[in-house]
Amino acid sequence: MMIKIERNEKCPCDSGKKYKKCCYQDPEKNAEILRAAARSATREEMAAMLSSPLKVYRLKVKLLRMGMQEIGKEISRTMELTGRQTLYDLHLAIQDAFDWDNDHMFSFFMSGTLFDRETEYSGDPLGGHIVTGLGVPTHPASKTELRDLDLSEDARFLYLFDYGDELVHELLVAAMRDRNDDDRDLPMVVDEIGTPPDQYGDDEFYTGAAQ
Ligand SMILES: [Zn+2]
Repeated sequence: MMIKIERNEKCPCDSGKKYKKCCYQDPEKNAEILRAAARSATREEMAAMLSSPLKVYRLKVKLLRMGMQEIGKEISRTMELTGRQTLYDLHLAIQDAFDWDNDHMFSFFMSGTLFDRETEYSGDPLGGHIVTGLGVPTHPASKTELRDLDLSEDARFLYLFDYGDELVHELLVAAMRDRNDDDRDLPMVVDEIGTPPDQYGDDEFYTGAAQ
């Protein structure tokens, strides 16, 4: 880690107590402190990270194509997640919102370019890290929280589900805000446009009859 916290020093949470008598004893709080310590170059940076409120991300997920079939009309789901949720949580939320079967591996491409290995985060249906996947090992989706990604409003990235059938989705960060006490359990779908086709359906999307 970048910053080493001694057990006898004052707790970074500013309680005035010693670290070993304070957050060190609370696994959840301690995890936050160790995470901030690992990501900070200075104690000021660490303090700022620890005191910054958790963000809620509003993500608009649009289905772009299924296999070779481009989706001509808008089929989208807009959902909210907290910064503490992982890309695997986001995968599960998309699966649920589009009624996919969560039966294949997936990748997010944060650069917005399909198959860009440098910015690829992948996983299998149970959240495991794919070693073979599309080639070289990529970043693990289940160990990457949304707040790790430096997302900003209007950022766009891609989600590929099923490397064989290739269901390609575009994600847009539609809004970011501080989490507040009124927030219910996230993720939550907040807007729906269009009806997703069956994942394995013999319908218009596969016969080319889509309008
Ligand atoms: Zn503390």
